[in-house]
Amino acid sequence: GAEINARSIDSLATAHFPLCMQNLHRSLRRDAHLKHFGRLQYTLFLKGIGLNLEECLLFWRQSFNKLTDDTFNKEYRYNVRHAYGDVGGDTNRRGGGYSPFSCQKILTEHPPGPGENHGCPYRHFNVDNLTAMLQAVGVTDRAVLQGVKEDKEKQKFHMACNRVFEFVHRNEIRRAKDDSVMTAAQLETIVHPNEYFKRSYLLKN
Ligand code: SF4
Repeated sequence: GAEINARSIDSLATAHFPLCMQNLHRSLRRDAHLKHFGRLQYTLFLKGIGLNLEECLLFWRQSFNKLTDDTFNKEYRYNVRHAYGDVGGDTNRRGGGYSPFSCQKILTEHPPGPGENHGCPYRHFNVDNLTAMLQAVGVTDRAVLQGVKEDKEKQKFHMACNRVFEFVHRNEIRRAKDDSVMTAAQLETIVHPNEYFKRSYLLKN
């Protein structure tokens, strides 16, 4: 499978990231910047998929390509190292930094304000923007889009995310079921962005 390093994030994002992280990735590529909570949500997710600190720093440095090295080092480097537990108090360092955010946390804490791109698109986008974003990442099936819309109306955001996962991975899931590699239990609802990634990565590699 694809190696997990700064260079492979573009292709990993397209193939394996849940919509919340694809949204952060696309915003980062568009603006060459992300605001504080977006950086935090994304950094911790990237740590969770196995991107090491050195590669993560390289990823952010290259992505913030309008900044000088000096500004990057002064304003952004420390927070990435802190998230990995490379600096900070004893407790932070012993614990290896912060844990990647669960869906629950992303869905309920710090809703994104204007110009912010963190959060969960199934919850924080309006239906039109959500549909446009799904179409942009290749989810064009009308039944799936309608299902997502209904999930959103019922505030079943995980269900929407799972619905999209099952659609995007339908061929791999069918094959895995045929080979009895995957049991029904393994298809229960995803409640963590890193779980979404892990399942996707395992299915396609
Ligand atoms: Fe991300 Fe969870 Fe929302 Fe899916 S349900 S987009 S993994 S926050």
